[in-house]
Order: sequence, then C-alpha cells, then structure tokens
Amino acid sequence: MTVVAIDGPAGVGKSTVARRVAAELGVPYLDTGAMYRAVAWKALEEGLDPGEESAIEELIGAIRFELRTRDAEAEVVLDGFAPGPLLRTPRVDAATSRVAVHPRVRAWLVGRQREFAASEGAVVEGRDIGTVVFPETRHKFFLDAPLEVRTERRLRQLGGRDADARERLRQQIRARDERDRRRSASPLRRDASYEVIDTSTAEADRIAARILRSVRGAVVATDP
Ligand code: C5P
Repeated sequence: MTVVAIDGPAGVGKSTVARRVAAELGVPYLDTGAMYRAVAWKALEEGLDPGEESAIEELIGAIRFELRTRDAEAEVVLDGFAPGPLLRTPRVDAATSRVAVHPRVRAWLVGRQREFAASEGAVVEGRDIGTVVFPETRHKFFLDAPLEVRTERRLRQLGGRDADARERLRQQIRARDERDRRRSASPLRRDASYEVIDTSTAEADRIAARILRSVRGAVVATDP
C-alpha cells in the first residue's frame, strides 16, 4: 500500500501536483485541508466562534462527517450535504486555521484520514501528513515557495488584480502560515525525512514527474 505525503504552506501548488501524482499512481487523492475547511465552514454556518474550543468540540460530536470517493477524489459530506466550492472563500480560509489549532479536532480528522488511506493507499495533501498522520511512509515531499510567489498564485486563482487585493491576500496568507507554523498541536514543519521541492520556478507537471520518479524508485529499490 502506497501513501504519498505532500505537505507545505498555503498557495504553494500542492493540490495540482497531488492530483496528478494520484492519477498516475492509480490511488485516490485526499485533500485534508478540505476536511479542516469543512469544520470551519460548518462552525460559521452555526454562528460559532472558530477559536472557541469547547463549542467546536461539541460541533464535531454532533455532525455526520463522511468522505465520499468521487472520480478518485475524496469529497467531504456534512450531514448529507457536500459544501464543495463554499469551502474556498477567504472567510473560510481564515476560520480554518483557527479551528485547526484544536487538538481534539485534529485527532478526530486524523483518524478519518488514516481510515481513508487504509485500503488502497492514497496521495494525501496537508500540513502534518508526513510528521503526524503517516510518519511511517517513505514518500514525503515538502513543497515550498516564497510568500510573494504564493500570493501571486492565489491572486490568479481568485481572479484579483489590483494592488489592494494583492496586499490583503499577502497579509492573509502570512497570518495563516504563522498560525499553522506556531500552533502547538501538529504544526507545519519539515524534518530530514522530507524531499523538499521549490515550486517557484518549476511547472506542476515537472514537479509531479519528479515525485513519481522518487516514489517509483523507492518502491523498486526495496523490492526483494
Ligand atoms: O490546504 P488548505 O489551504 O486547504 O488548508 C486550509 C487550512 O487547514 C490550513 O491553513 C491549516 O490551518 C489547516 N490544515 C491543517 N492540517 C492539514 C491540512 C490543513 O491544519 N493537514
């Protein structure tokens, strides 16, 4: 069973690369950010403060949370509803890194992530996949790029252009990264077991190809 861990900060291009690697390997793709986003989205829907630990813990005890596989991708379904694109707003971005600091929320979602990959393996994207969720996998990749490059990438995705929007987005990404790096429960960090890839100059296709070479090479090298 192959589990490929792809970690890194916001806007670094993890999803495009992870999807391609998963398709090539023929295993499902799991975007764990969408799971944290779904909890944050639901909290906002219910009028809860994402930073209030006990309220969020109560919320996760009350919702029915499913991961449905569609086109080899996990889709989050909450109480029978798939919020999909509603998870991608700047408001949800900000709330997500606030719910993601709560240790019980993390433990609950990590259990789901391990279950998901248990039967067929998966390409799993997030912040703590190689450090906490699947520390035993040999396939760990940390994608990184300077804040300016990541801001431009997100700006293009959101279709924004003006200088104000750029500056606001830069501040939002920086604040989110800081929270993700500084929290005490499973912070974003990398250790020597990761292969680090700078995504600022290379195309997604080339990065995916490099990951595939590395994964296939490691599998072949340890074959009996
Ligand atoms: O990857 P994405 O930008 O969708 O992640 C949204 C947020 O979810 C991150 O900023 C982080 O706070 C949280 N997250 C996390 N651990 C993961 C994946 C995402 O804490 N494994």
